[in-house]
Amino acid sequence: MSKLRAALTVIIAALVVFPHVAVGQDGAAAEPDWRRSGVCYEIFVRSFYDSDGDGVGDLRGLIQKLDYINDGDPASQRDLGATCLWLMPISQSPSYHGYDVTDYYRVERDYGTNEDFKLLMFEAHKRGIHVLVDLVLNHASGEHPYFKDALLNPNSPYRDWFLFLPEHPGTLNPWGGDNWHRSPVRDEYYYGFFWGGMPDLNYDTPAVREEAKKVARFWLDEMGVDGFRLDAIKHLFEVDGTVEHAPGTHEFLREFGGYVRSIAPHAYTVGEVWDSVGAMLPYYPDQLDGHFAFEVADAIFEAVRTGSARNLLAPSLRLQREVPHHRWSPFLRNHDQTRTLTELDGDVARAKLAATVLLTMPGLPFVYYGEEIGMTGTKPDPRLRTPMHWKQEPGVGFTDGLYWEPLQPDSLIANVEAQDDDANSLLNLYRRLIHLRSERSALGVGTLVPLTASDGAVAAYLRRNGDDAVMVLINLGTQHLADVTVSSERDVMPAGRYDVRSLLGAADGRSLTVRRSGAIDGYAPHAELLPLAGHVFELTGPSR
Ligand code: CA
Repeated sequence: MSKLRAALTVIIAALVVFPHVAVGQDGAAAEPDWRRSGVCYEIFVRSFYDSDGDGVGDLRGLIQKLDYINDGDPASQRDLGATCLWLMPISQSPSYHGYDVTDYYRVERDYGTNEDFKLLMFEAHKRGIHVLVDLVLNHASGEHPYFKDALLNPNSPYRDWFLFLPEHPGTLNPWGGDNWHRSPVRDEYYYGFFWGGMPDLNYDTPAVREEAKKVARFWLDEMGVDGFRLDAIKHLFEVDGTVEHAPGTHEFLREFGGYVRSIAPHAYTVGEVWDSVGAMLPYYPDQLDGHFAFEVADAIFEAVRTGSARNLLAPSLRLQREVPHHRWSPFLRNHDQTRTLTELDGDVARAKLAATVLLTMPGLPFVYYGEEIGMTGTKPDPRLRTPMHWKQEPGVGFTDGLYWEPLQPDSLIANVEAQDDDANSLLNLYRRLIHLRSERSALGVGTLVPLTASDGAVAAYLRRNGDDAVMVLINLGTQHLADVTVSSERDVMPAGRYDVRSLLGAADGRSLTVRRSGAIDGYAPHAELLPLAGHVFELTGPSR
């Protein structure tokens, strides 16, 4: 096939399944954009930076810290290099976390104003940072005026926006929880999957579907966001005791995703389907753009904790087979989960391996704020979401006042200031890997190719995009390993001799000869692999 025909085939295939990504305005294949080669940074605004001394992080504080995330200078490696933010809910809410919204059109007053948000968008875009906001559509707040009206007034126009029953159905959900809550004002029950303070919205009601689209349009058109993270979408519909993955959920997501693409072709939507890869697949290819890959996170932790590479790549390889264009998001931890360093018993070496795997996997990776400096925290939830550690001083540079939630005990060790100039810090590894991902198309958009290592403690894989090839080799175990070799199936690389250079500033590997069959066969980059050490090599050549 000619190069032109091959290129056209790729463009047409991309147009069919992912029309808003692959093709530039001139009709030529566009450079990989942030949705393919970027990294997103998840922020809890309440805990990021407080600009006015009330102890609560706010939007103006976040603006002051944007240079930490991305300073807008492609040559600088002093910033984290993330090109995308996910802001946990910023709409008005009575709770500290914001997942129970009382006004979808107004910024939480603790965080600032709608005008502050527009300023944030301006400052973020100036630096090449795209902003996704958390959209909580499954449920509203129990204090939302529409729910209060539905509760109090039997003739309320909002009665069918929620789910009411005259009697408790007498059943529990599959996890043994009771989702039906007694009305405080009359003899009836209403549905709220998570708790009584979060009544589920009823998406069988056309007006509710239209309202969800209106909210999306407001944030896209009026506030200028680049897309959404959609909360808890597997619970959107419930039918006859089925409280997750109901058919109506897919139908609504098709409608909602199509609507967003129709009014904002460059917007991105990523959904939370907290489930296995198998359960994620029915959400493709025509609903939201991407979903978080919880099973990839689990596989990374299993590998790093046990020191065995055996199950590391399987979820990513399955996604690569089944899902177009790497439209999923690997991550390590989010705001609902024990932080990485706590999960790894404080072992920074293992946290570095986890980061190395995460940021060399296919997909659009997400990093939860503070993970890059090794912040700790375990449940209850507010302890997973504590103030960011900026400086080596009491108060850690988060606020001049009294922080809204006590700091973690290691705040004077794990902080930005302490790690900033340390070439071996976790922070500087994150910075390096995130920048590499945008610089190397193999890491941004390349195919994941598994390699077989001669020792089960070694994870080995290629990322390859055309001539750009990167090899990742990680000793997950605690032993020095001598003469470990890696091999592949045939046709993974063009035959020839390659130079193998470290992209992490470590020792280069021996040169690699790929067989005429296109197979890597018994290649040993180093005589010895150190314990708990990761290598990211670029492969250049072959010499002709
Ligand atoms: Ca504040």
